[in-house]
Parts: sequence; C-alpha cells; structure tokens
Amino acid sequence: MIDLGTPVADMLNSAQGRPKLLLVDDQPINIQVMYRCFAGDFQVFMATNGEQALGLCKSNPPDLILLDVVMPGMDGFEVCKRLKADESTRHIPVIFVTAHTDPAQETHGLSLGAVDFIAKPINPDVVRARVKTHLTLKFQSDLLRKLVFLDGLTGVFNRRYFDQQISTEWARSSRNNTPLSLILLDVDHFKLFNDRYGHQAGDDALRVISDALKSCLRRPADLVARYGGEEFACILPETSFEDALVIAHELETRVRNLAIPHADSDASTIVTISLGLATRVANTSSDVSELIGLADRLLYEAKHSGRARVCSGLLTG
Ligand code: GH3
Ligand code: MG
Ligand code: MG
Repeated sequence: MIDLGTPVADMLNSAQGRPKLLLVDDQPINIQVMYRCFAGDFQVFMATNGEQALGLCKSNPPDLILLDVVMPGMDGFEVCKRLKADESTRHIPVIFVTAHTDPAQETHGLSLGAVDFIAKPINPDVVRARVKTHLTLKFQSDLLRKLVFLDGLTGVFNRRYFDQQISTEWARSSRNNTPLSLILLDVDHFKLFNDRYGHQAGDDALRVISDALKSCLRRPADLVARYGGEEFACILPETSFEDALVIAHELETRVRNLAIPHADSDASTIVTISLGLATRVANTSSDVSELIGLADRLLYEAKHSGRARVCSGLLTG
C-alpha cells in the first residue's frame, strides 16, 4: 500500500475514493508493468494512443497521467500540449515516462508543462514515490483553487464565484435556449438581530441559514452563494419559473422552520428571509445584468410589501 500521508488521504476520502491514474503507452507490456505498481491504491485507466488518452481526460479526468513520449500517431508531447491548452484538462499533472532520456527531450517535455520525467525501464518504488509527491501537490492546488471561491464564514460559494457562474449559466442558457432562474434573498431585520443578540449570534445564524438554503437545492448544477453581508443568491440553471417558485417557497419555509428567535422583527417573532425570483424563460435579447436587476427589484418589492415572502417575475424582453 502507498502511504499517501494524512492530509491527502483525508482529502481523498472526502472526494470519491481512490485517486484516478491514467496510463498511456502504445506497448501493452509497459502498461501491464505499471498497472501492477498502482492497481492496489488507484483507480487505473489505460490508453494505448494519444487520441484515446485525450478522450478519457475529457470524459473522466484523472488526477494524474503517466504518459509515454514515443507513440505512433500523436506522440506524448502533442498530447501534453493539447491537455495544457484546454482549460478543463490543464490542471491534470503529466509525468512523462520514456526510454529516451536525453536532456534536450526532458527540457522540451517540461517546457510543455509536464511536472516530471521518468526513465524506462521503470523502478516501481521510484515511480510510486514520484506519483505520490505530485498527487499531494495536485490535491493541495485543487483545494486552494476551491478555497478562492468559498465564503469563509458560511462555506457556501462567494461573490466571486457567483459572478463567474451567473455569466457561464447565462451563456449556456443562450446557447441551448433553456430557462435560467435566479433567486436573491436577504435576511429580514438582521441589523436589529445583531443589535439584540450580538454579532457572534448573527454569525451563527448566517451559518445555519446557509446550511438550510443548501439543503433545498436538488441538482448538482444548482448553487447557493453569499452575495453580500446577509444576502444570498441561488442560481438554478435549466429551471422553469414554476419549479423555481417551488424552490423559493421551500427556501423561505426552511429558514422559518429553523425557528431562530428574533424578538425585534416586525415581520415575525423568528428570523425570516425575503426573496426575489427572476426567471429568463427562453432566449431573450437582454443581458445577464437585467436578470440580476430584476431579481433585485423583486427582492426590494418583497421587503416593502411586508418581508418574509417571495416576489417573482419573468424576464421576457
Ligand atoms: P432588511 O430587512 O431591510 O434587510 O433589514 P436589515 O437590518 O437586514 O438590513 P440592513 O442592510 O440595514 O442591515 C444588514 C445587517 O446585516 C447589518 C450588518 O451588520 C449585518 N451583517 C452583514 N454581514 C454580517 C456578518 O457577516 N455577520 C453578522 N453578524 N452580521 C452581518
Ligand atoms: Mg437584511
Ligand atoms: Mg441586506
């Protein structure tokens, strides 16, 4: 068994089990040798040519690739170049495994973005040790990339991620002519809550509210982000107005059911939220800022018509 070290092992457990390793070599015997090195600790995938390797990297991205340089057709250098040129595969570390270990080749491979070079015939202990090192680095950089997009207090996505995702989803909705729903929501009389119960209790409330919001979302593409202080946003891609309205009411109910006392609210005796739901029904000529603007106006309407409610509307223009 490879000892991957505690932090990495923890991360692996929290991810989907064993790390995924892709072996690429045109000689089945070489693949067999490497397979025996790794089968116990990794999910091992194999490809015997460059095209197959690129296809696998797109459909089921591995955590690391051991890549032969000399192959008929597309060679390893070209495979590496293409992986590094594609945003969705550029973060996968590539280790070249080759019988030709002259310095010029090695320099070339590293300049293409490979992380390491290993000579054939391989020594199983050396290969395992290097793979372990590069996997550790890979998982650390994955984690850092993720942290950049998370809100420190609540653990939901942050505003930066929201800004990126709403544009991505708007473009997808334009391309596929599918609806896109956006909910903006804000905690009612939260200043008064802080004033009475203290800022620490306010922070705690934001955390449990975030968890409650997250628990209402069903699809992998749905997301909750902290939009501002005590304001949150839910992006619901490919979600019709009717379905999004059900979710908006569920969000409202779920927060109400937390039953966090709020003696100074004029909307209720417990903490409540107000919500604005805007749905782009199909292709519209408007742009993404109009969807956000509409959701914001609807939230304002919910506030000014008594709070603790959903106001909703369609973006059709
Ligand atoms: P409304 O119902 O109109 O939204 O009233 P409100 O008091 O919630 O709105 P307002 O914008 O006046 O005040 C927002 C409050 O939210 C003030 C601010 O201190 C508090 N807040 C924002 N971010 C945080 C946070 O991270 N932690 C805590 N405890 N409070 C926060
Ligand atoms: Mg508020
Ligand atoms: Mg606010």
